Amino acid sequence: MLSIDGLGAGYVDDPRLHLPALRGLAARGARARRLTCIFPTVTWPCHTSIVTGVSPARHGVVGNLTFDRGTGAVVEHYGDRTERGIEAETLWDRLHARGERTASLCWPKTRGVTTIPDNIPEFYEQELFERYASRPLWTELASHGLPVSRYGAWSAAHPLGPMQDWLTLEAARHVLAVRPPRLLLLHFLTLDSYQHDFGTASPEARWALLQMDALVGRLLDTLTALGRAETTAFMVFGDHGFADIQRTHHLNQILLEERLLEVDARGAVTRRLAWAAGNGGSAHVYALEGAPRTTIDRLRERFAALPGVDAIGRERFAELGLPQPGPGSTQGDLMVAAEDGTFFSGHATPEAAAASPVYVAGHGHMPHLPRLGAALVLAGAGVRAGVTLGDVSMLSLAPTAARLLGVELPGAEAPPLVEALAGSS
Ligand SMILES: [Zn+2]
Repeated sequence: MLSIDGLGAGYVDDPRLHLPALRGLAARGARARRLTCIFPTVTWPCHTSIVTGVSPARHGVVGNLTFDRGTGAVVEHYGDRTERGIEAETLWDRLHARGERTASLCWPKTRGVTTIPDNIPEFYEQELFERYASRPLWTELASHGLPVSRYGAWSAAHPLGPMQDWLTLEAARHVLAVRPPRLLLLHFLTLDSYQHDFGTASPEARWALLQMDALVGRLLDTLTALGRAETTAFMVFGDHGFADIQRTHHLNQILLEERLLEVDARGAVTRRLAWAAGNGGSAHVYALEGAPRTTIDRLRERFAALPGVDAIGRERFAELGLPQPGPGSTQGDLMVAAEDGTFFSGHATPEAAAASPVYVAGHGHMPHLPRLGAALVLAGAGVRAGVTLGDVSMLSLAPTAARLLGVELPGAEAPPLVEALAGSS
């Protein structure tokens, strides 16, 4: 299972791009018109749904950034900075229970997972890589001369992302050669980073996609050399599409105006009665202890009046695959979702916003927006050739992988993509 972060549905068919590896896979396998993501369409919840087949309501990863009412602290799934794990059964759990191995490289939400014997989670700090990467694998890679001591630096700086992805591929080639797993999870990030920094149609994003295709080609060559190309099934997909940023609403600056937040002279938050956790094209909004009873109603009205913004109350959470808010839940009391082109930030002051990286494109919006859809290609052993699927739910990926792996994933919220599988009726 290869996740090319930010691989939107339109890219694979763009005639101006030379993508021999991805198109080669698509030509001998199955593809979807569009992979419809879960909500919010951001990396950490999406990757969690991809390996569980369930929505955030069940797996608990409700955003890249969320808030814990109990501790009064921001919860960063982003960068796997929180110890809060996945609350649903994963593909790797199922395989482990059957005595089979998973290898996972830079896959989100794998910090501290004990059922993945070869695991390098996705972090932005070298210290976390050193602490949580599987020790034998890490040592082997270092002894083969691979610069794992740079994983954190290359992961943290977008311009160095191609080096991180190269290192991830080299780690995969090593694992495939010495301890071939039943399931290999790979996550490449450069295409996402370069779209954020330069825009979806930029030469930099196009170069990133060519680079991703080259890595896929090298992976296929490796499997051919190992004599495993014919016995391997490939699932290649994006975790979400992208929208270019035309307008940003700074939600916590509105909370400051509403006197629901206080900051000191340096801009640090000193008192929170409410908080907005921005996730690009959507945000969780929390009313906290001490807030007036009418806070959520008032904010719902205020945010809904912003141009390009839908304010969503808890009565719609279930249909959107979100849990109910409450003690112990990191789900906001209110969700806001933007139209294509409109984005949210959580910076509480103009100074904080000015000091952070400027993105020109992003994601996180409602999944039905056309540009937020992702690409999906299936090929190889067990996959039917020449199949074109319509719109496919992201929740179908885990049960489809389970079917290819010969395990059951009874809790999945969508059926496997049987039309794309060989030998199924
Ligand atoms: Zn992503």
